[in-house]
Amino acid sequence: MSEKKLQVAIDGPASAGKSTVAKLIAKQFGYIYCDTGAMYRSITLKVIQAGIALDDEPKIVALLNDTAIDFKPGQPHQLVFLDHQDVTNEIRSERVTNSVSTVAALPGVRKNLVDQQRAIAKNGGVVMDGRDIGTTVLVDADVKIFLVASVSERAQRRFKDNAEKGIHTPLKELEAEIETRDYKDSHRKVSPLVKAADAIEINTTKMSIQDVVDEISKLMKNKLNNN
Ligand code: C5P
Repeated sequence: MSEKKLQVAIDGPASAGKSTVAKLIAKQFGYIYCDTGAMYRSITLKVIQAGIALDDEPKIVALLNDTAIDFKPGQPHQLVFLDHQDVTNEIRSERVTNSVSTVAALPGVRKNLVDQQRAIAKNGGVVMDGRDIGTTVLVDADVKIFLVASVSERAQRRFKDNAEKGIHTPLKELEAEIETRDYKDSHRKVSPLVKAADAIEINTTKMSIQDVVDEISKLMKNKLNNN
């Protein structure tokens, strides 16, 4: 068995199943899981709490330079800490979800977080999910995946997740939110959401989570065996 530890990039639009799949792959291979969306969500939460306008780049970059975002293992999910406070649930609130794309479009914010993401991935053995991992953060990643699913399927998945957390946003509203966020993420100037030329696209609309995990795991094993 090869000693090589891969860098795996998983990109795609909102609620395409990236984090669910990335976590399972990381567990199977004993790799680190890095949820880059959680990093953009954490700084967005801090911006909201500080009462700073979502597009005030100089103030937000200064705030980010004085911010610690960390991941810690937890059950059943990895925990996210913002300045040493557990914000795992708070960063999933509707307020943060609907504000994050504006903050994530700021070049100074992206530069800071991309540097941190590269540092996390530098020794390999990492599964990183986001929007620009294959195109910008880890351009030399060993395996690049682009997950897609229909808007209605993605809204239904979020509806189900929300219901489990006691949030009852109507399905139509979730569809509209997903479309707005995808539009903003795909049309921003700096590293927009786009499939890398060498990424493998998987449409998960009609697939089970296990099928998606198996497909990616097969691609990774091929890579490891050919090295
Ligand atoms: O993956 P998640 O839905 O948690 O990401 C939240 C938001 O963070 C995205 O809608 C996008 O605006 C931003 N993001 C990004 N680049 C990444 C990961 C997330 O711009 N690599």
